[in-house]
Amino acid sequence: MSESIAGTVLDSLEFARSGGVLERIVRLDELPRLADLLITTDGFLSLRLTGWRDNDKSWLQLDVAGELVLCCQRCLDGVRFPLEIRSRLRLMAPGEEWPDDDLVDDSADAVEAEKELAVLSLMEDEVLLALPIAPMHEKCDPPSADAGKHGPSPFASLAALKK
Ligand SMILES: [Zn+2]
Repeated sequence: MSESIAGTVLDSLEFARSGGVLERIVRLDELPRLADLLITTDGFLSLRLTGWRDNDKSWLQLDVAGELVLCCQRCLDGVRFPLEIRSRLRLMAPGEEWPDDDLVDDSADAVEAEKELAVLSLMEDEVLLALPIAPMHEKCDPPSADAGKHGPSPFASLAALKK
């Protein structure tokens, strides 16, 4: 078993400066906000966090891969969702001038460089952003006669599922 990263915090600028690499296998039940949206928390995501500097800029790259089983909003059955995330973060040191929106590369977000970056929480944020708002099968099987009874909110059916 790999060491849990539940409590792992790192100095993000130092991580970038030293060319840090962090690789972990994360159990789905270690991600409570995500787990709420899943049919099953049996499974893993692989996480790779790398840091580097170029031209006095500090960067992090977060790669997450795996497969989730989300709740179909039409039939409430499980729907598989392959996950493959790569996000780049430009670390802004205290006092560093933030780039104009126009100048920020679309492929990277500028974020405040944290001294105690909670890796698991960052990973969970990125995974949640990557999920579809209303996951659905292309074609539900069997077709549910209840479709439409759960109201317009995708969360209404999630709530119903938990009862
Ligand atoms: Zn379905």
